[in-house]
Amino acid sequence: MLNAYNLWLDKKNIDPSKKPKLREFVYNVAYQLLEDFGEPTTNLKGRHPNPMPDRIIDAYSRHYPVNTEIVNGKRKPRDCYVCKHTTRRQKKRTRVVIICNECNIGLCIGYCFRDYHTLKNF
Ligand SMILES: [Zn+2]
Ligand SMILES: [Zn+2]
Repeated sequence: MLNAYNLWLDKKNIDPSKKPKLREFVYNVAYQLLEDFGEPTTNLKGRHPNPMPDRIIDAYSRHYPVNTEIVNGKRKPRDCYVCKHTTRRQKKRTRVVIICNECNIGLCIGYCFRDYHTLKNF
């Protein structure tokens, strides 16, 4: 750091009487490094230390659609739970071959799958 400091003073042709203290120089270099390569640590508080793309964070919830098991060469159909129990639209029976791997219930891919996992009353 001392070498860098002397080089820097040389390069900048700074009047020795006005030169910043080594400690100030070190602080400035450290600060500039932080600005170039990252954010000051205070801004990282409360944030995930290793941010993941959204699609990975979603997967963390472990609720994702999977196919039903194959029985006699065909995917075993299930009723969509949301279509069957919804209070927001006309109830209907929808046969699906997709279940939530975690909830183990049939769900239409799309609104039903989303609504089941995001709405208290679907
Ligand atoms: Zn449905
Ligand atoms: Zn689920």
